[in-house]
Amino acid sequence: MNKKTFEELGLSPEILKAISDLGFEEPSPIQASAIPVLLEGHDVVGQSQTGSGKTAAFAIPAIEICQAADRSVQVLILCPTRELATQVADEVHKLTAHKRGIHAVPIYGGASYERQFFELKKGVQIVIGTPGRLMDHMDRGTLDLSHVKMVILDEADRMLDMGFREDIEKILLSTPDERQTVFFSATVSKQIRELIERHSNTPKSVKIEQRELTVPTVEQWYYEVPQRMKFEALLRLVDFHGFKLGIIFCNTQRMVDELADDLIAQGFSADRLHGGIAQAQRTRVMNKFKKAEFEFLVATDVAARGIDVDELELVVNYDLPYDAEDYVHRIGRTGRAGRKGMSVTFVSGRDIYKLQFIERFTRMKIRRGTLPTAGEVEERRVEGLLDRIREVLNRGNLSTRVTDRLLEEGFNSTDIASAVIEMLAGPEVAPEKEKDHSPKPTVRSQPDLPAGNIRQPARGMLWVRLNAGRETGITPRDIMSLLEEGLGLPRRTVGLIDILPGESLAQVPKQFLDILRTGAREIDTNSGPVMVSLVPYNAKGKSGEDTGKGKFPKKAKRER
Ligand code: ADP
Ligand code: MG
Repeated sequence: MNKKTFEELGLSPEILKAISDLGFEEPSPIQASAIPVLLEGHDVVGQSQTGSGKTAAFAIPAIEICQAADRSVQVLILCPTRELATQVADEVHKLTAHKRGIHAVPIYGGASYERQFFELKKGVQIVIGTPGRLMDHMDRGTLDLSHVKMVILDEADRMLDMGFREDIEKILLSTPDERQTVFFSATVSKQIRELIERHSNTPKSVKIEQRELTVPTVEQWYYEVPQRMKFEALLRLVDFHGFKLGIIFCNTQRMVDELADDLIAQGFSADRLHGGIAQAQRTRVMNKFKKAEFEFLVATDVAARGIDVDELELVVNYDLPYDAEDYVHRIGRTGRAGRKGMSVTFVSGRDIYKLQFIERFTRMKIRRGTLPTAGEVEERRVEGLLDRIREVLNRGNLSTRVTDRLLEEGFNSTDIASAVIEMLAGPEVAPEKEKDHSPKPTVRSQPDLPAGNIRQPARGMLWVRLNAGRETGITPRDIMSLLEEGLGLPRRTVGLIDILPGESLAQVPKQFLDILRTGAREIDTNSGPVMVSLVPYNAKGKSGEDTGKGKFPKKAKRER
């Protein structure tokens, strides 16, 4: 079956714009099937699994049929709980963002009557509410349903389970007979059948069957991580396991762009694929990834279709997919050709219910993982380094020319070895304590660079140097606020931070650094002045600019 695009569904430009703002790339199956039937004016009974995008399936046509010039209630959406009403209202608000004069209001118990009354009196076309509170407003005469063109019962089965049958019937009876009636439900029981028969007019059934799927053998893990901690969680897992080739899935184009930029700012080689990128560029990125020319591909489902990379070690669901089938397609990219693969899924908030659904759907165990602590990550790094050193030691046959000269100069062998290790692995970082769970910049040592040589900054970034180093006790947080306040940087623009003996380095987007081009600046802090200067990046004798050539120079590749 050829998948339809949102454009092909014949939607208004305002809705298409809102859909693209939401980052939806293509309609989900229930959306592709239900939207046209609803736009034709039919009554509909829609059935599809949780998380398959039913809200937009009914909300989009509901918004399209509203007349902005008419301030009476034209669409009524019934939801079983206050929580669901809020979620639906949020999505409706986003979808109406570019529709001038179309207003929606949620009406549920527990919120103030006055406020709801005020909103209703101003005039809204779309009311989203729980049956109980809607009844209250009807009884008080503050809700007039005589101009309603469409009634939607979302999660009809749950509403009946909760005992709303009578309320629902009363509400339906106070709307015009010629209205369109829409039922969405995960299951259609006998009770719902009866309700449908009594209150709708030759409804069309739109049902998305779940296909049986063969699930690949992949070690599946999930981590409960709040949205704002996801990036830190990703860094830890990648560092801990030493992953070198993976796909990271996000649900929206915007999220893909943000994450790819963040990864690059942290020194990873990463690139992106989504529907907003021109096809020629997508093909280029895809081919590079197949040749493992960069480490992490950040992508949406649509764009990553057809990617086939045998060595892929890791699939990350940075956002939980909205569809269980997408989950299976995503994780199926790893663990191919008998290789072992791992999938990591981040869940936050109510995602956990969707995940349980996916588990049932795939009949596979997705194990709960706990994130490695910063200390454990560091420990792993040290172990990896020890392994590499042991390997070289065991191979034997080492030249002692350089060592002998240093010994002659009077350095002892312990100091020499430590110096070399520091050059290799960066300064040993004391294991961080697990206390502060707010987002914080991650301090990365730079294993591939000897001290004194500064690697190419991430794209669009430049290094700045601060004359305050580790011995001053300066923290990444201090550096961030010092630069933000002292140089007038927007918040959260500071990238990679490296605290070294005697100095610190930080990456900053170059458009904010004109202020330093004429020379260093002194910034006052509570513990005295700090000099901040631009670091000339001299790979090609150029000063302070990345060359723009070779997006992922070998040099910037992290060695782990
Ligand atoms: P359901 O009501 O079927 O359980 P929802 O309408 O709550 O599912 O949608 C689940 C999630 O999927 C939501 O976060 C929603 O924003 C997202 N979503 C819906 N449609 C799309 C789409 N076409 N593309 C990407 N994400 C979508
Ligand atoms: Mg729903």
